[in-house]
Amino acid sequence: MPDADPSALLRKLPSVDEVLGREAVRALLEGHPRPAVVRAVRAAVDAARKRILRGEASPEVPDEAVAAALACGAAPGLVRVINGTGVVLHTNLGRAPLAAEACEAVARIAAGYANLELDLGRGERGSRHAPLEPLLAELTGAEAALAVNNNAAAVWLVLAALAEGKSCVVSRGELVEIGGGFRIPDVMRQSGARLVEVGTTNRTRLSDYADAIGSDTALLVKVHRSNFRQVGFTEEVSTAELARLGRERGVAVYEDLGSGCLVPLRGEGLVPEPTVRETVAAGADVVTFSGDKLLGGPQAGLVVGRKALVEPLRKHPLHRAVRVDKLAVAALEATLRLYRDGREAEVPAVRLLAASRAQLRPRAERLRELVGGDAEVVEVTSQPGGGSLPGAEPPSLAVALGGDAAALAAALRTGEPPVVARVHGERLHLDVRTIFDDELPALAAAVDAARRRVAAKGRTEAC
Ligand SMILES: *Cc1c(COP(=O)(O)O)cnc(C)c1O
Repeated sequence: MPDADPSALLRKLPSVDEVLGREAVRALLEGHPRPAVVRAVRAAVDAARKRILRGEASPEVPDEAVAAALACGAAPGLVRVINGTGVVLHTNLGRAPLAAEACEAVARIAAGYANLELDLGRGERGSRHAPLEPLLAELTGAEAALAVNNNAAAVWLVLAALAEGKSCVVSRGELVEIGGGFRIPDVMRQSGARLVEVGTTNRTRLSDYADAIGSDTALLVKVHRSNFRQVGFTEEVSTAELARLGRERGVAVYEDLGSGCLVPLRGEGLVPEPTVRETVAAGADVVTFSGDKLLGGPQAGLVVGRKALVEPLRKHPLHRAVRVDKLAVAALEATLRLYRDGREAEVPAVRLLAASRAQLRPRAERLRELVGGDAEVVEVTSQPGGGSLPGAEPPSLAVALGGDAAALAAALRTGEPPVVARVHGERLHLDVRTIFDDELPALAAAVDAARRRVAAKGRTEAC
């Protein structure tokens, strides 16, 4: 091939101005701002240059490539997706969906000013925790409460404020990794607290903690195994026993609960999870948990406990670096009010986890009808996800699609709207537990488009 020389091909590549001068490209300016069209042309020319350098292609910059780059550039990076995985608290998909009232609160507060740190009655500086504290106190039985950016930050703040330069006693069976590389021993080191490990991986007794208490012991720490289970020859010390020991020896007990369950969860296949109220009642002096796991609110870390221990957290310099933002306060307040008013069934995470297979049946049948073809309703088990309820397997239903499952999954993921499904053997499963009724028509259209793209062997390209 005489034209295989890349430098000769590169010389034939049109300039950005040449492409911009084409009639078809000028027409794009009618519906799009000029900077966006220029950016798209540059991207298309750049892509052609890279193809030449890879030895792949001719120096063409088709009009369609400019239009496609423009569409990619116009689409936001963060988009709504349909979750067909059945994983209710999917960390990659943003964990808990918010309740309608929480969404409304966020929209209201985001669009204007708010009394975030202003006491309207007194006309003085107020606290951003003021709307949350009474709700958290009522729902958990704790004296004081504080919200921060996420639970990882809450753990860090508790250790830094209450145990810097001192030691913390933790069971070897609870030195867990939460995910994303967040490991309890590492956080302890970062916070300046000294870790004193007691017991063995599978068994820790009260005497292990008692023997480890010294003059510099600041906290007895318990970490809830929120993302794994221990079975077999195991022994652990309950919060109540540890709290009794702590009171006898004058050492505070801190429990990182992780998932932050506010009400006992009811639903098929769920395993009991300690609630925050039970943990406080058992005698833990400080408890931390996430806002966007089982609680079903926005990303946040919540600290509840005795006033004398929560107060130093508020004043610690690190608090300013991890403080909760106004949108999270708005969403948290709205979510906590639903619990307070006995309306927790309106919290999506609670509702989705509670749905029985029988309750999911009509949605599965409706989806099967809408997508047609070879679709079948099959029995599956969902997962709570997000490092919560390890071992729970709520029975669920999925619509199974045949064909090239991997190609279909890729086409769905890069479609409009994007759909995340689960490849199960030869088939693709859409678990209806995490699909909302109002998403069904859009999902059916997305399946239709994905099937056609796979049939046409269309390339699956994301922006
Ligand atoms: C999830 C979890 C964390 C981290 O919480 P984020 O809100 O994700 O920062 C910390 N500790 C435990 C036990 C957890 O389960």
